[in-house]
Amino acid sequence: MNTRIGFIGLGAMGLPMASNLQRKGFDLTVFDIVRAPMDRLTQLGARAVTSVAECVRGAEIVVTMLPATVHVEGAVFGDDGILANIGKNAVLMDMSTIDARATDRVAQACAQRGIGFTDCPVGRLALHAQKGESLFMVGAEDAVYARVEPLLKAMGSTIYRCGPPGMGSRMKLINNFMLLSTAQIVAESLTLGTKLGLSVETMREVTAGTTAHNGQFHVLMVNKSLRGDIEPGFTIDLAFKDLTLALNAAAEQRVGLPVGSAAHAVYGAARATPYASKDYSALLDLACDRAGVSVPRLAKP
Ligand code: NAD
Repeated sequence: MNTRIGFIGLGAMGLPMASNLQRKGFDLTVFDIVRAPMDRLTQLGARAVTSVAECVRGAEIVVTMLPATVHVEGAVFGDDGILANIGKNAVLMDMSTIDARATDRVAQACAQRGIGFTDCPVGRLALHAQKGESLFMVGAEDAVYARVEPLLKAMGSTIYRCGPPGMGSRMKLINNFMLLSTAQIVAESLTLGTKLGLSVETMREVTAGTTAHNGQFHVLMVNKSLRGDIEPGFTIDLAFKDLTLALNAAAEQRVGLPVGSAAHAVYGAARATPYASKDYSALLDLACDRAGVSVPRLAKP
């Protein structure tokens, strides 16, 4: 399985995803503007380089896992970037969460040059990426999908094909709109419940057995803030970026998102606090700070 992969962007998600590829026998060349994660990968046997161009040259599949639209378009269209260096028969696989219209622009530019393209944004949390249990929302034609499927299987456990290129990005936008809005409702519920004297164990047990059951409480909060861990994970800054993508798409489509708009405002305000670069489960810590109540904590598992 020595497909040559160029992997760009080794952050909270890219590092564990690339590590899984390297451990499972792919031939990896990696690049990040920060040195430390590259060193982690060279220890596993990957080759680290110092530019996007070097990372892309000779690769059969180029993976990007970058923060936002501006970074992906910069890497793809920039001078000496991906399009300037990618081989004719290569595939570009963007796994970042970005504006679907930017995904369309990248897909179109690849199509014009005869380069395969797929958008495969990632679902679930960094802790799942570490275990190789990510979920992927794939926009791809069949021939390109066949080429990237072995990588997806090495990095995750669940794959959904959502349609042609661009549909992975659109699915991810909806997914994150739903989960990020829900996370704020969970934070508010736990804050109010704590103020009313309920124990977090009781709230956890009861809501697990009713239709209030949801992953933002029972997976996210239970593993992060409620254990006293608000290191990212997925930052409030990136969460705000995703909610903004959803609101922009809604505005363009003349769809009102009244509850989601309120959630967006909460994340926007959170970005002005020290929690901006913390995990988005810190919405709970922020809600508790504002209500003047101690953040409820579960015992370490
Ligand atoms: P991150 O900020 O932790 O990592 C991004 C990495 O990209 C950093 O290491 C940064 O140095 C690097 N980078 C930035 N510009 C670069 C460039 N021009 N060239 C090379 N490297 C560059 O972000 P993350 O949490 O890993 O998220 C990556 C993407 O995945 C985002 O679009 C995010 O919305 C999405 N996502 C994140 C999670 C999560 O739980 N963290 C889950 C699913 C999807």
